[in-house]
Amino acid sequence: MNMHKEKKTQFERAIFYSWSCYVEHRCKYCYMSGLPRDREVKERVRSFGSILAETIICKKCNWHFGSLTGGIGAFPMPKIIDLVKKISIIMEEKVWVNIGVLPLPILKKLQPYIQGVIGTVEVLDPKLHEEMCPSKPLAGAEVLFNNATKLGVRKAMTLIIGLGEKFENDFPLFKDFVNKHGIERVQLYAFNPQKGTELEKLPPPTKEYHAKWVKSIREEFPDMVISTGAWLDRVETLKGVLEAGADYMTKFPALRKFGKDIAFDFEKQAELAGRDFIGTVTKLPDVDWDAEVDKLDFDEELKADIKKKLQIYVKNMK
Ligand code: SF4
Repeated sequence: MNMHKEKKTQFERAIFYSWSCYVEHRCKYCYMSGLPRDREVKERVRSFGSILAETIICKKCNWHFGSLTGGIGAFPMPKIIDLVKKISIIMEEKVWVNIGVLPLPILKKLQPYIQGVIGTVEVLDPKLHEEMCPSKPLAGAEVLFNNATKLGVRKAMTLIIGLGEKFENDFPLFKDFVNKHGIERVQLYAFNPQKGTELEKLPPPTKEYHAKWVKSIREEFPDMVISTGAWLDRVETLKGVLEAGADYMTKFPALRKFGKDIAFDFEKQAELAGRDFIGTVTKLPDVDWDAEVDKLDFDEELKADIKKKLQIYVKNMK
């Protein structure tokens, strides 16, 4: 939905099923590139109970389901397909996935449960891309988009700004890329320096630069769905990006910060920008959580697991 046209906004949640990373050379902006070799995350995979409990919270708090995100090798593919199916049942809609370069046969199997795929483009300037993401070539996202086009699956991309690109050079590249692949959604991230990485000292982009990207995308692509976010120390920048035409606000650790002062500040940004904030990150809805799980036609063991995880999450949110 084009929230900006309706003067609304909503918190967008990406649900992660793993934090595994299989690339040989870490992306320079990623916190993983700053971890000592022995602390590098080889494989951290969440249980279905935990992922689906978070999905139920997402639905009940009326968060926009941004994507299911994770490494393609973290679960065997039949398990991923089953997970996507279960998530779409809870959300009562097809969902978006950001799970790597999907070959055609897999994409076909996912098609009944997905609205679209998200390609991790990150940086469009070819030289800068190679420097920033040495093991994640742009060609991978293009293969994904080409496969999606063949099947009529919708497409979205990620883009990080503030990594050294020049707006005058990269915005035209962005326009061409969007037009070439028929991209409908963009997840625009402002670079956030991570301790211990090579880019630790690179300052994040200014809020004006962030808003300039959003405004330019909005002017060029009036129907593009733009999700963007800011880290906790920069929540006040969200007003500007909403005014510039963003639809959804993302990157907020909503489970951890639910109901805290910062969550009120987050919602306040919508009001300051003249938007209605849909859903909540401050007020726990009155829900019989066990009853929500009982409604689901999943096996009893999984349901027990989801209930256990829900208890933990909801207790923390309270
Ligand atoms: S951003 Fe790059 S380094 Fe970080 S998890 Fe993704 S592929 Fe790995």
